[in-house]
Amino acid sequence: MVLLGLVDSHVHLHEYGESWSSYCGRFAMLAVSDDVQSSLRTVEMARRCPTVVPAVGVHPWSVSEGLDLAKLTRDLEELLEVGGVRFLGEVGLDRVFTPGTFSYQLKVFEALLDLASRYGVGLSIHAAGTWREVLDLLRRYGIGVAVFHWYTGPLDLLENIVAEGYLIGVNPVLRVQRKHEEVVRAAPLEALVTESDGPYVYRGLKLGPELIEDLVARVAQIKGMEVGEVTEAVRRNFTRVLSRVGLSFSIPKGPGPSSNNPPS
Ligand SMILES: [Zn+2]
Repeated sequence: MVLLGLVDSHVHLHEYGESWSSYCGRFAMLAVSDDVQSSLRTVEMARRCPTVVPAVGVHPWSVSEGLDLAKLTRDLEELLEVGGVRFLGEVGLDRVFTPGTFSYQLKVFEALLDLASRYGVGLSIHAAGTWREVLDLLRRYGIGVAVFHWYTGPLDLLENIVAEGYLIGVNPVLRVQRKHEEVVRAAPLEALVTESDGPYVYRGLKLGPELIEDLVARVAQIKGMEVGEVTEAVRRNFTRVLSRVGLSFSIPKGPGPSSNNPPS
């Protein structure tokens, strides 16, 4: 497998219809899913595009009491077992947007953590209002690889997350969300990985992989570093976690930000 270009470590490609393929080859993407149906679609896209790494799972917003947990676990296990999928995502807990289903979210998340632990796969984590709880759960289940997507949690928790070798997802919203900018300032470069969460819209900002180039430039500015330094660090961080779940490939030094040569 060969990956090109910039890194988008959290994108809902399955929501793009047929236009998703325009990102293939231009970005190294960890494509997350929201439920079993979108998981199947994500796996199919990864089969068709070598720069897509599929993540399967159920988003905390998609969890309801009507969800058949035994069937969900069986379906996802089959994708890990037979489909060779090495990431679960978007999975986690949410006390901010969907507090009403929290107790059931927890049940589902623990089942997924058990699955991740048995298969040694990584996680793309949603942890709105539950940052500490999620970190504790990851430790309890012995999870080796996790990316905390769009981190807006307590700054004093960053040290513990980084100490576990987990990554912090940096999103283009840093230009409008003060808290997220503070996170980027506080977290070490060795723990950062860029993401879009596309096609989500946040405060009028339509998120998507095309914003990653500008994001890298902003991170470089905040860190007082060269754009190329940040680009390489993010690629290094991303390939490191992929290799830790057995996905061995490298991202060649394709065109980075401010390059006039689009990848072919
Ligand atoms: Zn997402």
